[in-house]
Amino acid sequence: MLILKCAACKKKLWRYDKIGQGELVRCHKVRIDKVYGFEESGSKICCRCGREVGIDKGSYYQMISKSFTASGSKRNSAEKNKRHR
Ligand SMILES: [Zn+2]
Repeated sequence: MLILKCAACKKKLWRYDKIGQGELVRCHKVRIDKVYGFEESGSKICCRCGREVGIDKGSYYQMISKSFTASGSKRNSAEKNKRHR
């Protein structure tokens, strides 16, 4: 799981189940595991401090790479406990 934090104020945004080792550019809503707090204004996803961190694209959030930090671990799609959708 990756914990995403706002780059401006360091508040936690959400916890995300990242599959694969690539860079985090999209957050699929179904794989958001826990929400700590964020605000939506129109299609914009903002931290509670007002920093825009992503854009709502329907089934996923397009992330703004300089606006957040991620810590934790990504998992490989080959892992045994992979859930089939
Ligand atoms: Zn913030």
